[in-house]
Order: sequence, then structure tokens, then C-alpha cells
Amino acid sequence: MSIIAGNLQAVEATITDAVKASERTRNDVQLLAVSKTFPAQAVLDAMAAGQLAFGENYLQEALDKIASVAQAQPDAAVEWHFIGPIQSNKTRPIAASFAWVHTVERLKIAQRLSEQRPPELGPLNICLQVNISGEASKSGATPEELPGLAREVAQLPNLRLRGLMAIPEPTTDIAAQRAAFARVRALFDALRADGLEMDTLSMGMSGDLAPAIAEGATIVRVGSAIFGKRDDT
Ligand SMILES: *Cc1c(COP(=O)(O)O)cnc(C)c1O
Repeated sequence: MSIIAGNLQAVEATITDAVKASERTRNDVQLLAVSKTFPAQAVLDAMAAGQLAFGENYLQEALDKIASVAQAQPDAAVEWHFIGPIQSNKTRPIAASFAWVHTVERLKIAQRLSEQRPPELGPLNICLQVNISGEASKSGATPEELPGLAREVAQLPNLRLRGLMAIPEPTTDIAAQRAAFARVRALFDALRADGLEMDTLSMGMSGDLAPAIAEGATIVRVGSAIFGKRDDT
């Protein structure tokens, strides 16, 4: 078995334990394999082990990788998610090459993605990134901005608002991790109570996926636990 296949099995076991502990089912949680900084071959190895959803942060690297994977496996149903910061002059290739974008934090970016989404691809799935760490993070809409942003994004014709994404401040304190994820969940529940139809909570990474699942994550974004240590971690 490849190292990546073994790592995927270990992550799968963590997810299975976490869903059991919170009386959820395995189908409630999708594993997004975050392949940033790793080559196309690493993605192909993960695909050989059955993984089909991949997250990328850096646009040019992602576009090259998507092309290489498509060439090697033209018939595979691979699903690419963009999870990095978005520059407004880079929305067109994002709209054309990804199935999901998790990091929308401004209306202007959402409007551009909607205008530039090729209609034949169907709606682009969107999560709004929310900043629950206050001043400690520059990324994400504030909890105050979120309801207005969500209502506007939900109206855009070529997008489908699916839910919220968050990256809490790193901490190894499990209670603090759970508290942060619970805040995201509360924002999500409030928007749904307000009538927005959303089904996705994108939260939890290699270091905190179990507490994220305990608080309702439906997509966990896992990089280093699958592909190994990166230079940036
Ligand atoms: C890199 C990254 C991940 C994966 O992080 P790991 O700690 O390697 O699992 C998840 N989400 C986002 C937004 C990232 O940038």
C-alpha cells in the first residue's frame, strides 16, 4: 500500500470514530484531501485509493495540477475545491475550473464568480468564509457582515450557496477548538433559521477534525495527515 493510501485509511478511521462518538453517520461528513504543494502524482495516488475530492489554495499550481490529473485520468469524476485566498482579478479561472469555492468573503468576488461561471458547468458551490477569531485573522467575513452577505450571495444566478467555512485560530486545547467550531455552527443555524437553505459546514483540518465533526462539520479539509508535512507547516 502507498504511504498516501495508508494515511487515508488512518484519517478514515479518525472520521469514523468521530461520527460514531457524536451519533452522526459516515455519510454526513465528506473528506476533502488538501493537496496544495504536492504534485499531481500525489493526487493520482490518493485517487487510486478511492479519494476523489481535492482542495487547492494556490491558483496557478492548482490549474497545472488539474490539467495533469485530467490528462492522466480523463474519465475520473474528480471534484476540485478552491480553498485559498481569492484575488478579484483571478476569479475567471476559478469559476471555470472548480466545483466548489470555500473562501468567499466579499460580495464583489461572489458577483464576479457568478458572472464568469460557464453556464454549461451548472452552479458553482459556494461557502462563505467567516472570521471567528477576530483581530487574530484577516480572512473571512465578520459575524456581523455574514447575514447580509449570505442573503446577497444566495440571489446570484450561477452560484449555489452551500454554507460556511472557517479556520479557527490554531490551538491544541480541545475545549477551545470545540468552542470555536460551536460558534461557526451557531452562525450557520441562525442563517438557516432565517430561511437560507444551506447544508455545508466546512471546518476541521488535520489537527482538529474530530472536534469539528463533533460540532457538525460536513466537510473536513485534511492535508498533512494525508500527504505529509509541508514546508509551510
Ligand atoms: C492547508 C489547508 C488545510 C489543510 O491543513 P492541514 O493542517 O494540512 O490538514 C485546510 N484548509 C485550508 C483552508 C488550508 O489552507
